[in-house]
Amino acid sequence: MAEKDSKDKRTKYQKLEEKLAFKKKSAWEQFTDKQKKEVFLLCDRYKQFLGKVKTEREAVHEIEAFAKKNDFFDISKVNKLMPGSKVYDIHKDKNAALVIAGKRPLSSGARIIVSHIDSPRLDLKPKPLYEDSGLAMMKTHYYGGIKKYQWVNTPLSLHGVVVKKDGKKVEINIGEDPKDPVFVVSDLLPHLSSKEQNKRTAVDIIKGEELNLIVGNIPVDDDKVKQKIKLAVLEHLFDKYGMVEEDFVSAELEAVPADAPRDVGFDRAIVGGYGQDDRVSAFASLSALDSIETPEHTVIVLFYDKEEIGSVGNTGSRSNYIEYIFGMILGQAGQDNSAHNIRKSLINSIALSADVSAAVNPTFKSVNDMYNAHLCGFGVALEKYNGAGGKYSASDASAELVGKIRNLFDDNKVPWQAGELGKVDEGGGTTIAVFFASHGMDIIDVGVPILGMHSPFEMVSKADIYSAYLAYKAFISL
Ligand code: MN
Ligand code: MN
Repeated sequence: MAEKDSKDKRTKYQKLEEKLAFKKKSAWEQFTDKQKKEVFLLCDRYKQFLGKVKTEREAVHEIEAFAKKNDFFDISKVNKLMPGSKVYDIHKDKNAALVIAGKRPLSSGARIIVSHIDSPRLDLKPKPLYEDSGLAMMKTHYYGGIKKYQWVNTPLSLHGVVVKKDGKKVEINIGEDPKDPVFVVSDLLPHLSSKEQNKRTAVDIIKGEELNLIVGNIPVDDDKVKQKIKLAVLEHLFDKYGMVEEDFVSAELEAVPADAPRDVGFDRAIVGGYGQDDRVSAFASLSALDSIETPEHTVIVLFYDKEEIGSVGNTGSRSNYIEYIFGMILGQAGQDNSAHNIRKSLINSIALSADVSAAVNPTFKSVNDMYNAHLCGFGVALEKYNGAGGKYSASDASAELVGKIRNLFDDNKVPWQAGELGKVDEGGGTTIAVFFASHGMDIIDVGVPILGMHSPFEMVSKADIYSAYLAYKAFISL
């Protein structure tokens, strides 16, 4: 044994390379056999979560269920927050916070993981229903940055709420049960596309006003009625939900891909499914809370809506919800909850913006700087900055923070990679990081690389999902 060790056949420069060069290694090659089993178990739970959660409201519902199941209590109802106390808050059914009180006062800073639970989709317009050419149709308005042509000829389900004239709220969820009908935007057939469609540029192959859902075909049996098919749909909606056409005005109905998540590849290494941006981070951060001891610093895991449309609105991360949560924690813990101490607590906090980045698509490598690109299955992506052009709209984390985080990941054997979304000036994107950074806290993007982002069927390596889970778990105890 000793003799073998002394016979290191590497050359001097091989050893030097080992010592000096930044190595990239697949996360699959870094995991132990036991971990590889855990990867698949975690992702089985993830697929269930993803299949159940198709809207921000449904995500909040699952998050609340997780909180209750894991002994988190409603923050407004606890007597006093003590170190180790677990509390949660739900904001307007679209925004949530889970908190584990730390040993130190909040003014020494929290450890925050923030993700978003809204995903690109087709929303019904305020007056969606019409009849044309023997079909009942519904007009939609897309939400978030989609490639519109990807959303045609694919089964869509309808999720959301309708607030009726009498103030009663009905929930609608049609298309997930295999016995349910689905709704479809029909593309133009190739036989008749040559003039109408084939000369269009890619962004206009399907235009916004062409994202119209097919919702019915059978007319009512009455020749005195003009729009017989439309009326038949209205009759169905009234019978089933007690709603009338005007109720669509006060509804939030989202058409989303109806399919359940699936494994991709012979080796089942990849999860494919809708809404992984950014529910994969929501799931990984939630899972990281499953068996946590009383942390040194208060842990806050946040879930926001509206990220895909610029984090605006009262449930987006530009709202003052974070200040509200900090004020609540301070107040309930009997600590100084003055405006100054809230700001101090925010400024002393460290946060991970848990959001997806792009994985290299081998077919379209031209958009990546391959020296600085994220690879599928190579671990969680650490992104110092994103934004566009000359780092516009990037929060650009400090070297000190990146240093702290990469050491944390190394110490906890978290597979990670560092890079950028794509080539300089190729395009770009931002996350919640920039809005949280405005509170003065340290924040950096740490999320999984994804293939086919914003498409109806996004793909993420299970190794990266597990790496994100390990990363968030390590961060919580920082
Ligand atoms: Mn995202
Ligand atoms: Mn997105």
